Amino acid sequence: MEQPTSGALLDPYGRAHTYVRVSVTDRCNYRCTYCMPAEGLQWMPRAHLLTFEEITRIVAALARMGTRKVRLTGGEPTIRQGIERLVGMLGAIEGIEDLSMTTNGHVFAKRAQQLAEAGLKRINVSIDSVDPDQFREITRGGDLSRVLAAIDAAREAGLLPVKLNCVVIKGTNDEQVLAMVRHFADRPDVVVRFIEFMPFSDVDRRKRHLPAAEMRQILGEHFTLEPLGRTTDGGPAVTWRLAETGQTVGFISPITEHFCQACNRLRLQADGHMRTCLSREAAPSLRDLLRSGMSDEALEAVLRARVWAKVAGHEAHLDGDFRAFDGVMTSIGG
Ligand code: SAM
Ligand code: SF4
Repeated sequence: MEQPTSGALLDPYGRAHTYVRVSVTDRCNYRCTYCMPAEGLQWMPRAHLLTFEEITRIVAALARMGTRKVRLTGGEPTIRQGIERLVGMLGAIEGIEDLSMTTNGHVFAKRAQQLAEAGLKRINVSIDSVDPDQFREITRGGDLSRVLAAIDAAREAGLLPVKLNCVVIKGTNDEQVLAMVRHFADRPDVVVRFIEFMPFSDVDRRKRHLPAAEMRQILGEHFTLEPLGRTTDGGPAVTWRLAETGQTVGFISPITEHFCQACNRLRLQADGHMRTCLSREAAPSLRDLLRSGMSDEALEAVLRARVWAKVAGHEAHLDGDFRAFDGVMTSIGG
């Protein structure tokens, strides 16, 4: 098969790329234990970050090749100054139908309305515990009440459904599988999703990883789980309905039931590096290419070539050969 020069953004495995996750900053106001060290990281100098105009140019080029979904992430996207302006710019791109954000919710509540007015459609909120003390420990100082307020503010602003991301770490918050479901049982517009911890080292893989099947077992002791399958939006969550409460619960299992064969996503890092696979560091930054005066046409050609060079899948499996992900989550954008 030859690399196409027009039409959908295809890789050699026939996967069409319609979704881009944009990390707008590597900085964060939390320090989740599984994501970054207590002292933070060596942050990117501000001049290294893509400007809003550069992000818009890249997303517009992708939209011309079939991208329909954009998610803003980070680091913490709400702490990038003027993020509402970027939301407005991306929402105005022809072809972009779905504009969402993944946030820790800490400063979200008071901005929910403004972001919705700027064109944001939905949010995912990261919440690993509904116990305030455990939440503070996992996030190293986070305030659960603010995150719960963010969830309510998003519902009031019509950013629906609100999807929650709970990373389950063996020996740390396993019991939250049940606690989270119970906590949100009376809110049908809130979907709780459990995410397998992604290992950045072999020790993590062996000690802290809880497979999604075991999470389902925990719930299965209290509820009847009816399979709903993969979500229709092409996302990675496999959903189940709890017969007793009617709640939909999702599981995202990048390691044990990985979904590489259906991968339709690209990741744009805050410094302009493009990842076609979560596991692989990307080579020359699109930022440098744009700043050297690259035309839109040439940019599209570079994007096509990068997607054509995409790997079949990551190799961070539980058994056998193991290759951890390169880099840090805050610049990759989760
Ligand atoms: N700060 C925002 C937040 O926390 O929602 C957005 C960025 S954060 C890196 C995106 C997602 O990645 C969060 O849901 C977080 O829980 C998840 N994440 C970070 N490190 C992870 C890991 N090692 N394994 C699984 N998920 C991880
Ligand atoms: Fe920040 Fe999100 Fe990482 Fe937590 S998971 S430290 S909130 S970027």
